[in-house]
Formats: sequence, structure tokens, C-alpha cells
Amino acid sequence: MLSWDQSSSIALMQRERAWVEIDLTALTHNIQQIRTLLSPKTDLMAVVKADAYGHGSVTVAQTVLQAGATWLGVATIPEGIELREAGVEAPILIMGATHTAEQIRAIAHWNLQPTLCTPKQALVFSEAMGNSSHRQPLPVHIKLDTGMSRLGTPWQNAVEFVQLVQRLPNLAIASIYSHLATADDPDPTILRQQQHRYEQAVQACGFSTNSENSPKFHLANSAATLTDANLHYDLVRTGLVIYGLYPAGHLSDRIALKPVMQVKARISQVKTIQPGTGVSYGYQFVADRETQIAVIGIGYADGVPRNLSNKLTVLVRGQRVPQIGAITMDQIMLDVSTIPALQEGEVVTLLGQDGNQQILADDWATTLGTISWEILCSFKHRLPRVSVGKPYGDRRSVSRTWHSSNLQA
Ligand SMILES: *Cc1c(COP(=O)(O)O)cnc(C)c1O
Repeated sequence: MLSWDQSSSIALMQRERAWVEIDLTALTHNIQQIRTLLSPKTDLMAVVKADAYGHGSVTVAQTVLQAGATWLGVATIPEGIELREAGVEAPILIMGATHTAEQIRAIAHWNLQPTLCTPKQALVFSEAMGNSSHRQPLPVHIKLDTGMSRLGTPWQNAVEFVQLVQRLPNLAIASIYSHLATADDPDPTILRQQQHRYEQAVQACGFSTNSENSPKFHLANSAATLTDANLHYDLVRTGLVIYGLYPAGHLSDRIALKPVMQVKARISQVKTIQPGTGVSYGYQFVADRETQIAVIGIGYADGVPRNLSNKLTVLVRGQRVPQIGAITMDQIMLDVSTIPALQEGEVVTLLGQDGNQQILADDWATTLGTISWEILCSFKHRLPRVSVGKPYGDRRSVSRTWHSSNLQA
């Protein structure tokens, strides 16, 4: 009788048409590199919102915590619960807004820490905690808007807001933080204005950013972390850099990062087409010579943006080859005329390194007029996340992660 067991699953995974590879060695390396910029008293928060920028939040969280990160940042309550359910114990800051008593109870139950943006929210939080069975005050993180015009109380109202929260029962201020709008811009004018507003607000509240017995202070995202140690305070909230990409070209010489994500797929079919033959929907590409093409099992439903049609370059046996015709939902075609005797089942690299060639999310972002953050987040769950490299310790989740030493065979 045919039985379906875990080894069958792994065998199937090894034949996947396409997948996202997560290099745990690179992830560990990046955390260690970022730590070299920080004073021993500054905590490193790994921002793992949006499924760790598409890398898989549980695997990333477990790896970065063993590599030297001490906090995790997420956007939503379910993102925090997913980490707790996987056994992650580090403090988790929810950076997005939460509002209802129901949400506060979930936050307290799962030992998460919310961001507090408005007086109304503070009242709801305090009351909800009073009505719950929790004895400990809820640690809350005060968010000030110093110029991003997104979440937070305007910095001019910081004193009023902080005093209100201090008076309310059941809440304890764990940190006061703000977020920068232009930290990746080579012109530091707005960054310095935001920093100045932040420090003024903190001082007006009667705190000093140097004192031991005060809440934590934090302002820096990846770009600010690379820019200036005076922006680090007690904690830095780094996302992009832990995944091995630079927030801006002018910041790329500070530390040596390694990209963590690679996107790979297999050749499903190889064929030769004659001059005048059209390729894919709409015949956006018509061969002007005899052309050898390879069909690859990945498409826009996996997260390869359709707007890259005819602009994408893919690595095949360490060479750059052009993608031709419209990108379809599940498949793309490559012109592989320069590569002899390609075999069906061979692996090609859409993002990542092959030989001495490398394609970065930044390359796609530049072509598309967007940012690398959006590219990383765009890969869909249809692509399994496969951990490679040496994990730091061995507490990885296996639930959504298939580790295979022989994936490319
Ligand atoms: C997403 C986010 C970060 C991380 O930003 P990166 O530029 O990826 O380092 C930090 N702080 C807040 C509030 C965020 O929303």
C-alpha cells in the first residue's frame, strides 16, 4: 500500500517547482554585524512584521534571538501570537495600533506589549486591564509623532499624554518611541529635526535619555542605525538590515551584510522556437531568430511582479539570461539560447547568487520604481520557505520550514 509520510513530503518538497531559500548563516552574520555598531547597553529589536518581510517569522525570530537580538517587533496581534504559539519567549512589541478591550485582553494573555498612540486608547487599555484577571500592570510603549505624520501623539502633546498614562492604573510605561520619515535620505535635515523634537519631548516629560530608571527610548530604524550611534539610545528597531539589504546606497559601506533570501525555481521544459514565433500571452515577445527557451515554474501568483515582463534577468548556470514575453500566473519563459544542453529539472535563480553573478531585491525594485522592502514582502505562501545554512542552535520550527541538504539535486 502506498503510504504518505514525512519522508514523502520531503521528497515532494525536493522536487518543488519553486521556493524561497532562507540562509540562516547569513541571518546570524547580519545580526552580529549590526551588533558591532551598538553599545553593549543598546538592545537590538529584530523587526519581524509581515512574516519577517516574507522570510518566515518563526524561523527568523528563533535564529535572530540566538544570534544576539533581544526584542522582536511586529505590526499586529496575530503576528505576535504566532511567535508565542511557536514558543518564542522574548519581549514582543506590537508597533501597529490596537483599540478594543478584546485586543488588550489578547495582548495581556499572550504577554505582548502594545503601542499607545492616543489618550482614548490609554483609557480603554487601563479599564480593560482593570476588568481582567491580570495582576501585573500592562507594559505599554508610548508612540510620539515627531514628523512622520503616521501613528502617535504629536510631540508637542507628549507631556500631557505621558502624565495621563502615568496617572492611569494598570499601565506601566515601558518605552517612549518615535519613527523617522527620511532616515535613508543623504540629506539629514529632517532626520535631525525629528531627533531634536524627540529629545525635547522626552526631556519635557522629565526623563533623561541617559538615566537608568526611566522607560526605554528608541528612534532608529535600519537606516538610522547605520547612520549615527547617537540615534541608537536604548534600542534599535531594525528590519531591512537583518535581512541583509541596505536601506540606501550611501549607507552600504558601514557593515558587510549578506542577503538572507534567495528565490529559486526549476526548469519545467526546454524547447526551440523558430523565427517569427510569439511567446506568452499577447505575444509581447516574438523571436527574431531560432531561439531556445526554457519554461520556469514560477509566476506572478508566486510574487514575481508581472510588471517585470521582458525586463527580468534570471541566473542559469551562473549566467544572466533574459526572461521573455508576459510573466504568467504560474510560469515564465527564458531565452536560454546561450546555454547548451539545459536539462529539465535544473534550478535557476531569480533572486540570489549563482557563481559570481548576483541579483538583489534592489535590482527588481529599481526596475519597478519601488523599494526592496516591498519586493521582499511580495513572495506568496505558495512558495515554501526552505532554511539553508547552519542555524544557530537547533530550535527551529519544522512546521512551515523544510530543511534539506540536497534540495538542488
Ligand atoms: C517597519 C518598522 C521598522 C523597521 O524599519 P526598517 O527600515 O526595515 O529597519 C522600525 N520601526 C517601525 C515603527 C516600523 O514600522
